Amino acid sequence: MRQFQSRGLILASHPHLHKGYVLKIFTSQQGSISAYLQSQKHLDPLLCSPLCEAEWLLQDSYDRDLFYVREATIITPFLAIRQHLSSLQWAGKLLQIILTTQLPQKPSSPLYALTIHYLRHLYPETPHPSWFSSFLLKLLKWEGLLHHPLHCTVCQAPSRAILPGESYCLSHAPPFSFRFHHVEESLLEKLLFIKNLKDLPPIPHGQEVLREIEALQSYATRM
Ligand SMILES: [Zn+2]
Repeated sequence: MRQFQSRGLILASHPHLHKGYVLKIFTSQQGSISAYLQSQKHLDPLLCSPLCEAEWLLQDSYDRDLFYVREATIITPFLAIRQHLSSLQWAGKLLQIILTTQLPQKPSSPLYALTIHYLRHLYPETPHPSWFSSFLLKLLKWEGLLHHPLHCTVCQAPSRAILPGESYCLSHAPPFSFRFHHVEESLLEKLLFIKNLKDLPPIPHGQEVLREIEALQSYATRM
């Protein structure tokens, strides 16, 4: 049986027949996988808890979609995030997006690094809608679904409407595109390219921008 070792973040965990847990793990080597973790007497409960990053030794099983956990060592359980309900909810949204967008066993090491980077910079005082919008935009770019630079495909004016893989000014935007009427031109670029997450700009009327980006993300995922 083949074994491999990888860092991985638990996205979801389901108890199985009181004997163990089926974990969804986003790994740096193999992307999103399912793995069976057997219950043991001294099992650290964090090892079957979403939002825990660990080093995993995983082994193939007869079911090619399920690995067995041979060994696991916690790297970080992100305890600081767990202590604040609001941060925990936003981290949960991020895990959910990875869970719904990443195909099983699609290698995505840069996206893994990006995910961990965003979680490491999630504090109670973080402007959460900006934090999540920025992650979603980077994810769209990583998936090749965000046209860059954010200029109109037709006339090169700054883009204010987006479709997966295309962007438009408001004059050339197709009726069903995702529009950012009220967003200052540079905000989407700032959120997309920001390196230091301490400098995240707050979003004016934040929920509306976030809602448009979430709608774009969800539309792109269904394509
Ligand atoms: Zn245009």
